[in-house]
Amino acid sequence: MSQLRLDPMTGRWVVIAGERMQRPSDFLPRLLPVEDDPQRPCPFCPDREGEIPPALESYGPDGRWEVRVVPNLYPAFSGSDPMVVSHLGPVYTQAPASGIHEVLVLSPDHNSSWADLSDAHSALVMEALRDRMLHHAQTPGLRYSQAVVNCGREAGASIEHPHGQLLTMPFIPGEAANELAGFARFQGNCLLCAVIDAEEEARHRVVFADDRVAMICPFWSGTPYEMLIVPHNHEPHLRNADTADLAAIGRSVKYALAALRSRLGDVAYNVMFHSAPFRLNADFHWHAHLMPKISTRGGFEMGSGVLINVVSPERAADDLRAAVTAPA
Ligand SMILES: [Zn+2]
Ligand SMILES: [Zn+2]
Ligand SMILES: [Zn+2]
Repeated sequence: MSQLRLDPMTGRWVVIAGERMQRPSDFLPRLLPVEDDPQRPCPFCPDREGEIPPALESYGPDGRWEVRVVPNLYPAFSGSDPMVVSHLGPVYTQAPASGIHEVLVLSPDHNSSWADLSDAHSALVMEALRDRMLHHAQTPGLRYSQAVVNCGREAGASIEHPHGQLLTMPFIPGEAANELAGFARFQGNCLLCAVIDAEEEARHRVVFADDRVAMICPFWSGTPYEMLIVPHNHEPHLRNADTADLAAIGRSVKYALAALRSRLGDVAYNVMFHSAPFRLNADFHWHAHLMPKISTRGGFEMGSGVLINVVSPERAADDLRAAVTAPA
């Protein structure tokens, strides 16, 4: 079982997940393409369903799955021990890394990516995410769900088959805490409602927008071609989003990934969904970040937390806007 340890210098929790190191592919040289370990065939392909634990949920017409949710075999968070913090002397603090770690297999097709899914299939992915978040939010002791899609080895994916992960933990992680603080600092309105109003008025950082969603290259972009995807409807929790908004966000992720591919080729990327902590006593507006991995963080960025971005968001938005496949 994994363990939480508190970094006393930053106040952030770290997960020590020794069991995940059973995956030898984790340490392959960074620039190799993602390839399945030849000793271990892809566990997410349809003919191998029997080799991994049974699906927790399965979505698709006529008994054929299009999206499947399975337990992660090497969970970073697992078990239901309460978050009892122990102090080891004056400095060290630890707790059990209780929680849930699941995999969403995005498609039965090993060689596809979210960019290749149909609009209806993209909507199913988002509905699966919503359903699992609803379920996790009802689990006693857990406080926050982080959903991610990693694609490409540089982005942290160790299996090529398109998949996402949902990690639910007994604490509010640092990134979410920072964003909550940003919402709280912005007095008088919702921060992201104000951002999309301003961007849709100005237009020059909008990559794509319709009546349900705005996709922008944020004014404060720290990495080239990063995108922020925000539903117009003000709602803190992804789990409470209505089905049409989920479909619109799913479709927008697909447009964004297709635009990236047409502009930059097959780059690695991360998609990260931010939804409010389960019990929220402040304001928040759920959204998704899309970060292509086309630059690496050097010592300055890691040492200072200050990012240097060599492509302005205005230029990136111009570039991507021209490549977005708009709905017919
Ligand atoms: Zn596969
Ligand atoms: Zn809002
Ligand atoms: Zn965010």
